[in-house]
Amino acid sequence: MSADKDPRLAMLVESIVRLSKGELSSRIEPSSARDEVDAVITGVNLLAEELQQVYEQFEKRVESRTAMLRQAHLDMMKMAMSDALTGLANRVALMDGIEEALGQAGDDAAPPALLLLDLDSFKNVNDRFGHDAGDRVLQEVARRLNSVVRESDLVARLGGDEFAILLPAATLDIALQVARRAVEALGQQIRLDSVDIHCRASIGVRIGTANQSAEELLLDADTAMYAAKREGRNIIKLFQPVMLYSRQLRSQMAAELREAIGSDELVLHYQPVVELETSRILGVEVLVRWQHPVRGLIQPDTFIPLAEEIGVIHDLDRWVMSTSLRQLARWKQELGLDDDFQLRVNLSAVELKQLDLVDHVRALLRELELPPKSLVIEITETAIVTRGEVEMYSLLSLQQLGVGIEIDDFGTGYSSISYLRELPVSMVKVDRSLLVELNTRPGQLEFVAAILRLISAAGLEAVFEGIETREQADQLRAMGCNSGQGYFFCRPMPADETAALLAGTRHLRMNEGFSGIGDTEDTEITPAR
Ligand code: C2E
Ligand code: CA
Ligand code: CA
Repeated sequence: MSADKDPRLAMLVESIVRLSKGELSSRIEPSSARDEVDAVITGVNLLAEELQQVYEQFEKRVESRTAMLRQAHLDMMKMAMSDALTGLANRVALMDGIEEALGQAGDDAAPPALLLLDLDSFKNVNDRFGHDAGDRVLQEVARRLNSVVRESDLVARLGGDEFAILLPAATLDIALQVARRAVEALGQQIRLDSVDIHCRASIGVRIGTANQSAEELLLDADTAMYAAKREGRNIIKLFQPVMLYSRQLRSQMAAELREAIGSDELVLHYQPVVELETSRILGVEVLVRWQHPVRGLIQPDTFIPLAEEIGVIHDLDRWVMSTSLRQLARWKQELGLDDDFQLRVNLSAVELKQLDLVDHVRALLRELELPPKSLVIEITETAIVTRGEVEMYSLLSLQQLGVGIEIDDFGTGYSSISYLRELPVSMVKVDRSLLVELNTRPGQLEFVAAILRLISAAGLEAVFEGIETREQADQLRAMGCNSGQGYFFCRPMPADETAALLAGTRHLRMNEGFSGIGDTEDTEITPAR
């Protein structure tokens, strides 16, 4: 049989063509001859079999790799859309959700509602118990928020201690119900190891309207939340257009305040602190005011919290400190004030966190050739309660330097006297609220007397603020209180009037019918927002 006539060769050629086209299952039946050609046929079949197996394995591998890639992509998408700490949706996912909900809200479908929540005193948790504890609190908050909504609602964390709840289609009633449930859920204390933490929230609520963008809805809810915060915390506020106006006003004021620091718009007034026994002026407390070109004189209770919020309190406090110390140096030269005369400067809590505070104070005192004891730093009780390491370092170093340290507004916070004893402080200024009902509220006199005894038992000196009547001054003196300040003696005054007063004998003449010195303009409160 000649090779070119053997039909098996044609079959072989055909089969090889099929294989090369990818038809790997194609096989040729060997003939019964079992000759050399059949051996080649069997060889080709074996190769085809192997090729098919290799190819199938390869396909399987490609398939599993593709599935892995797809999963990784999904995971990445999920990560990009969720908050790593709490597993809640993140801002991106929330914005997507809002956009979708707004798109679906039509004539017949209900609009979405957005609730924005901000925890009220979360910063304290971080400060006092550390960031790990803070993280656990945030996780618990996330869990509780999830428990007050339905499957179809979206709970998100926008960062920090800010959360949001999106109800894709809701009525005002439902939105408020959810807000109330959230307040209730967060109202229960959170147990962390051995301490109970309260983590209440302020909530802003905004029902979406037609033609609103996701950003606008979020901004409105944020504005309402902001209003809730300002009104007293742990409050639910529904967005109102007028809120936008006051927010705008506030941000304008914030911008103006930045500009005002260091300019001549900030002015310093001084209020004498007096020895009750002799009416001798022991020193002055410096109190800052803002002479606003349009709004008039603005009191610190209005702009100090704003300065703290927008982070310029540091610049403000440093400016007050250096300007008033320069003033004191000038007065000492011009008026011959003795070294016992004390300038009292208020410092915000954040100042104690500044590592260079002590160097700053030391350098100023040296430059102006003032003895350290002529400066007393007043710090509010609540600012000191946190007792961070840097704060303690600042207090100790200032005390070592010889600067006086006074706890301000004592009686409004949490400190106990025994706690005060552990702090590097030398004086306690008792809050004026304790004097208000001195002669009307039964037992108040005894209460104040007890506080005075406790302060002196702790080896500290008590100063009373807010003395408004002769009777109060007499009563405090009789109880053994050494010094005080208040409208009865003197209102806060501008520098020139203060100088005129100090140029005299430094003894206030407290005759009958005396009703205080100082300008009355100072007491006018200008509404600033
Ligand atoms: P404070 O440290 O408790 O200051 C005493 C406040 O009581 C002053 O209010 C003063 O004008 C007022 N006052 C004085 N005598 C009487 C009185 O007989 N009766 C009543 N009802 N009030 C009296 P002011 O000047 O409005 O200051 C408010 C707060 O602003 C201060 O409270 C202080 O916490 C803060 N502050 C003022 N200046 C500064 C500053 O330079 N830096 C910082 N961080 N805070 C400041
Ligand atoms: Ca003060
Ligand atoms: Ca005070």
